[in-house]
Amino acid sequence: MTDSTNSAKAQSTDKEQKHQQRMQKLKDKVDERINAAQEERGLLIVITGNGKGKSTSGFGTVARAVGHGLKAAVVQYIKGTWACGERDLLEKLSVEFHVMATGFTWNTQDKTTDIAAAKKVWKESKRLMNDDSVDLVLLDELTYMLSYKYLDLDDVIETLINRPPMQHVIITGRACHRAIIELADTVSEVQSIKHAFDNGVKAQKGIDW
Ligand code: ATP
Ligand code: MG
Repeated sequence: MTDSTNSAKAQSTDKEQKHQQRMQKLKDKVDERINAAQEERGLLIVITGNGKGKSTSGFGTVARAVGHGLKAAVVQYIKGTWACGERDLLEKLSVEFHVMATGFTWNTQDKTTDIAAAKKVWKESKRLMNDDSVDLVLLDELTYMLSYKYLDLDDVIETLINRPPMQHVIITGRACHRAIIELADTVSEVQSIKHAFDNGVKAQKGIDW
């Protein structure tokens, strides 16, 4: 072996060692934080922002919980009546599902019907958030009900605060109200970098619904 190959080899071993040391330091820090986090309680999680991935994140967590044998329920504050893949799957797994489904406001122009429908599913949401046998409640697209003032903000806040201490709640939707963000334990904002729709691709089965 030449001197130059030997020195290149020594250099790469040195690099590997340094990398290992850095990774060990990082692991020690993470372990320290894991050990320090001892509290266990129900979380309020908000997934907001303009990018794609809010509802799918909520449903992903429902799937995760159901996989562990936890009891989950879903309330969708959407106006559409179209089928959704998650519903068909989760109902088979005994996940309770409620959908507002009034049809689009700009078709019906009927605000009164929308408010009545929102209040009806809110009643179901409240019942679920009063039931300590329910481990996880997904309130999909709830944020719009507060933006449109279809639901009373104080009532929503009060219900979230008084829910069973071990119950997790996930709220999704754009432009989440500040008060809910302040109350939440975990908040993620999904940012749109680009979306296929902007290039003329229509909503695809299994990906968008
Ligand atoms: P998903 O249900 O796919 O997780 P989302 O919940 O983040 O999406 P919503 O605002 O609820 O997004 O919109 C639902 C529908 O609109 C989905 O079909 C989604 O692909 C589409 N969509 C989401 N973000 C964008 C965007 N930035 N531009 C265009 N369409 C979008
Ligand atoms: Mg959504």
